Amino acid sequence: GLLSALAGYRNDEIEANNIYLEQKVADRTKRLESKNVLLKNEIENRKRTEIELLKAKEVAEEAARAKTQFLSTMSHEIRTPLNAVIGLSGLLVDTKLNNEQSEFVSTINKSGENLLGIINNILDYAKIESGRLDLEESELSIAYLIEDVLDIVSATNVDYNVELLYKVSDAVPPFIVGDTTRIQQVLVNLIRNAIKFTEHGEIIISVDCKNINEDTQELICEVRDTGIGIPEDKMGSLFEIFSQVDASTTRRYGGTGLGLAICKKLVELMGGTISVTSKEDVGSAFTCSIEVKKSDKKQIAHKPESLLGKKVFILDDNDTNLYILKAQCEKAGMDVITYNNPLDVINDVEKLKNYDLGILDMQMPRMNGVEVATVLRKKYSKTELPLVLLSSIMEMANNEQRDQFNLYLTKPIKQTHLLNNLARVFENVSGILRSEEKEKYDAFDVGRKLKILVAEDNIINQKVAGKMLERFGQVYDVAANGEEAVEMCKMINYDLVLMDMEMPVMDGLQATKELIQIKDELNKFPIIIAMTANAMAEDQKRCLDVGMQDFLTKPVTLQSMKQMFITWFGVEK
Ligand code: ADP
Repeated sequence: GLLSALAGYRNDEIEANNIYLEQKVADRTKRLESKNVLLKNEIENRKRTEIELLKAKEVAEEAARAKTQFLSTMSHEIRTPLNAVIGLSGLLVDTKLNNEQSEFVSTINKSGENLLGIINNILDYAKIESGRLDLEESELSIAYLIEDVLDIVSATNVDYNVELLYKVSDAVPPFIVGDTTRIQQVLVNLIRNAIKFTEHGEIIISVDCKNINEDTQELICEVRDTGIGIPEDKMGSLFEIFSQVDASTTRRYGGTGLGLAICKKLVELMGGTISVTSKEDVGSAFTCSIEVKKSDKKQIAHKPESLLGKKVFILDDNDTNLYILKAQCEKAGMDVITYNNPLDVINDVEKLKNYDLGILDMQMPRMNGVEVATVLRKKYSKTELPLVLLSSIMEMANNEQRDQFNLYLTKPIKQTHLLNNLARVFENVSGILRSEEKEKYDAFDVGRKLKILVAEDNIINQKVAGKMLERFGQVYDVAANGEEAVEMCKMINYDLVLMDMEMPVMDGLQATKELIQIKDELNKFPIIIAMTANAMAEDQKRCLDVGMQDFLTKPVTLQSMKQMFITWFGVEK
């Protein structure tokens, strides 16, 4: 009885336990089910959000695309008439005008250039903002890059008399890998600012390099000026858009307050930083450091043999300039002494017979370079002691004064240029070398007549391109659209087609494609160069992709046209 009672009790207990367990399982299942529902909901919610996000992203991307498209179209539309304004006023300056007229014309020209600068800035900023700026990496030489930058800034500051100097530290390798255009853009911006805000003294551009690891290094560029400086409390916001120290400087100096913001964005894009130190009325120094890849490309030895061991004296009152010139000459293996006082040179006149060459700065207090040369020439002829005059374009000596020199160079002096020209002095001691500012700022006669076709629908732009071609001693034909251009190429063996990108009936890209298709039918396939108002890299790439050789950005300048003749027609000037 007890046993069965026990068993019954057990059964009850098991039963109860079972019920309890079943209940528990049911509870759990319920909980799990409701959790499942929650999870399902959650998943669905997430899915919905994801779709919404994707949609929003698409909308945003579309908006960004539209914005960039709008900006590119707008910039095109503005650049086209600007092309005419800048081009034609530039040509007008050189015609016979009375004083007042020529002042008006050059104001129009300058304002046009300014407007173009602003448009370019806005376009650039928008492009960077929308993440559409692609960096292009290539092997580049820092020395050449800086020399190009100096060309750009000094070409637009002809009447400027602050010393513009540069030094590249020995730590900088001959080549690095980076984006030439963007590094240049940053430097041009910083140097233009320095020029704008500096009335006297000097602007020094220095470049240094530090190793980061095996493949990368840090490129440090500094632009230091002796200008008006920046007040302490304004330094913080300097790199924000539309920030300018005070409105009155804007009126006085112009500008949009976009330059530094663009610099900052560009530098950051290149994985770097930009900073400033400044003191009011003393000057400012902007430093940017960016990461660049190393390159093992070696420098082609660029030391004219004829300079090795030559004894040279340099006279300049500016110590920085003296230092840089000395370093440049010493790099070429020359034996250098320096003077910073003209009177010391005059005192040493006897000793100078041991020297092979003298380099004299034009502008110095007390006695200028020409006056020193006049004294030296009483004792030494041009073959006995060749002399080189350094001057800014502004203070160019007259012909008679120049006659005392074997060579005159305009500042800023570029290393390769300096050495090549000094070498030429020794090869040609008796003859005067040609003036180089001519070479830099003027057109020249190409010498032979090329067959040129200008394909451009805008009549004024036809005229601008045409007038410039005339400056190079060229005549040209005109086609009003791509179709006409193709037809004309079938008839005439053009050497060069300047092809506008956007034309009615058939645009420049299509016309180029068609020309390539009928290549075999043509007696001669012309060099096709795009004239594009689109400053966008992708547009320029499109030109090259369809088979054009190069592009000129509108407004086309004498300078860019000259470069084109040099590059594509091997014209030596
Ligand atoms: P912008 O020069 O077009 O006005 P930036 O962004 O290049 O625009 O410069 C912003 C402001 O920073 C300038 O308006 C000027 O007040 C100040 N600034 C820039 N560079 C210098 C400099 N080298 N010396 C003094 N002030 C400077």
